[in-house]
Amino acid sequence: MNAIKEAIKTVSDLWSLMVGLRVTGKYFLEPQRTVRYPWKAVSNIGTFKGHLELVGGGQKDPFKPRCISCGMCALACPSHCITVVKKKAPKPTPEEEKALAEAKANGEKTKDKAPKDPEKFVYDYSLCSLCGTCIENCPAGALSFTGNVYMAGYSRNDFLFDLVVKLRDSQAPAPAEPAAVPAETSEA
Ligand code: SF4
Ligand code: SF4
Repeated sequence: MNAIKEAIKTVSDLWSLMVGLRVTGKYFLEPQRTVRYPWKAVSNIGTFKGHLELVGGGQKDPFKPRCISCGMCALACPSHCITVVKKKAPKPTPEEEKALAEAKANGEKTKDKAPKDPEKFVYDYSLCSLCGTCIENCPAGALSFTGNVYMAGYSRNDFLFDLVVKLRDSQAPAPAEPAAVPAETSEA
């Protein structure tokens, strides 16, 4: 049994590696996009990648993730920095329980009524290499990079997010923009 599990994990790891190499190869051939920030002024900061975020719009609610909790992103991530926690089905009413019992007794298939959007979407930004593999593997277009390149923290826990909470909290007014980077070009 352990040998089968090991074999499945090896195939999954190899698949992640191949997808990652394909993404690396694609961007390797493109022009360099990095500068020696903050010594060089950055004119196109808006094109840089920040941490991941969940895309809203599930059931037409801009603050509900489009994510369907399939787990493909977590499976594809080479750094294992995503954990998707599925929602549980709500407790059935007595009438629903009766109907379910009847359906089971008749050998009918019953559908899982759990909502598709995740309970939690835990993302460890301290491990993320911003490779984009999770975004490319998402069948629902539910992930994207933010433009937040100014994030800083004092401990690793400052980079551990529940992206469901982050999306919900994005209803709050945005914080003030950070001060402009001085156009200093001398290096330390
Ligand atoms: S961008 Fe980050 S979270 Fe997504 S697959 Fe790459 S390392 Fe994992
Ligand atoms: S973000 Fe996309 S790939 Fe990841 S669990 Fe949600 S739907 Fe699946």
